[in-house]
Amino acid sequence: MTSMANTHNGKLFIETVGCQMNMLDSELVVGALRKQGYSLTDDPSDADTILFNTCSVREHAEHKIYSALGRLKYSKQARPNQVIGVLGCMAQKDQALVFQRAPHVDLVVGTGQLAEVPQLIEAARSRRERALAVSLDRKEAGRAAVSDSFQSYDPLREPAMRPSPHQAFVRIVIGCDKFCTYCVVPMTRGPEQSRPPRDILQEVKVLADQGVKEVTLLGQTVNSYKHTQDGKLFRLSDLLEHIHGVKGILRLKFVTNFPKDMTDDLLQAVRDLPKCAQYLHVPAQSGCNEMLKRMKRGYTVEDYREMFGRIRSTLPHAAVSSDFIVGFCGETAEAHQKSLNLISECRFKNSFIFKYSPRPGTKAFELYADDVPEDVKKQRNNEMLLLQNQISAEDNAGFIGDEVEVLVEGFSKVQLKKADLGPVSGPSQLTGRTSCDRIVVFDGNPRLAGSLASIEVDDVTPTTLIGHIVTREVQHGSSVLLPILA
Ligand code: SF4
Repeated sequence: MTSMANTHNGKLFIETVGCQMNMLDSELVVGALRKQGYSLTDDPSDADTILFNTCSVREHAEHKIYSALGRLKYSKQARPNQVIGVLGCMAQKDQALVFQRAPHVDLVVGTGQLAEVPQLIEAARSRRERALAVSLDRKEAGRAAVSDSFQSYDPLREPAMRPSPHQAFVRIVIGCDKFCTYCVVPMTRGPEQSRPPRDILQEVKVLADQGVKEVTLLGQTVNSYKHTQDGKLFRLSDLLEHIHGVKGILRLKFVTNFPKDMTDDLLQAVRDLPKCAQYLHVPAQSGCNEMLKRMKRGYTVEDYREMFGRIRSTLPHAAVSSDFIVGFCGETAEAHQKSLNLISECRFKNSFIFKYSPRPGTKAFELYADDVPEDVKKQRNNEMLLLQNQISAEDNAGFIGDEVEVLVEGFSKVQLKKADLGPVSGPSQLTGRTSCDRIVVFDGNPRLAGSLASIEVDDVTPTTLIGHIVTREVQHGSSVLLPILA
């Protein structure tokens, strides 16, 4: 592929669905396109390039994208110069099928080819050529060739696409080799590959120089990280220790953890490195061994309990969150009850609950009937949510009267909504997170964004702590008195 010298002063609309990995990919694509002169617009009718960065984990997410593409058919007729692209997991999974279902799409670009997006857009616009750029199928070639086809181009960053100017994601593991039977990720993101520690550290330093205070290391199985550099094996715990030394970074997080790879050295690193968030997301998916076996998760409930016990004994104050799938193939009422029992026992900070959605191309789709009726899935989903919310509310209530340290993120959702409706007077409601990942809202000066602040908790909901600021900003090792301006 030739490099593109010409610049473009066009407008780009990009919609991102799915996980943090997709948010990061969009940041990288936008970073590359900004370099070509593009500016962002949040109005698709104003854009000459429209991109969808897609997710294939659930059928619903794909339907939404195909509906959005359908609506663009007429916009394309009115603006023949417009380029429409489908990127990411759905592009890798559906490939040419996207063109069949939406013939007005110009580009289909998989997760491993995102670096080519600028050139492909240019070719589509100048030569009216459609392009399909995807990685090799995992059965199509040897591991090295398939891994190479899922290339990464993480150094290109775009601050405007970050969750906030002070927070950034850094990918450390690409792909996944676990092959859980319900999951498309090993196909859409390719073989598991750990990035070199040198590259990761360099990226974190650049981010810190740009004002980033909180870095979240990403991997579908982030704690499986392993890379040998200069003859030395680096595990996630080693990487954390190195990143911990980067000046300017105040907080370090990592998601998502695989239960079987939760090693003691990692828990000890989180205990001993003060910048590490006291928060671990470790999806259990089910509390029933029969279901875990069908999901091919590679552990039993007893193994999960043992791992959870090690977290509790090493990190007694850490918050643990989980994912659960309800209504997986063959899930009985008894199996569902076992998942509820595990939630009651572990008292997760929160759980992300998903109704099973069969995905073509997965083993579960091939092997098992999707035999739990939709209304039963819905009822189990609600029941689990109710239990989890009750636990979250009870545990949050334990914080009332406590002083917690938060990394201030910026305006709260409520404040942003108010601002959308017109000019706002009076104090600003801000939001931040504790080290154990609890969301805290409080009134304060927006200039506090990006710093650590102490908040006294006055009230709670199942998802949020509500408090007021204590009159000092806290830096590691020092306290500074600050005037509180509304
Ligand atoms: S660990 Fe399982 S659920 Fe997670 S990405 Fe890999 S295959 Fe999918």
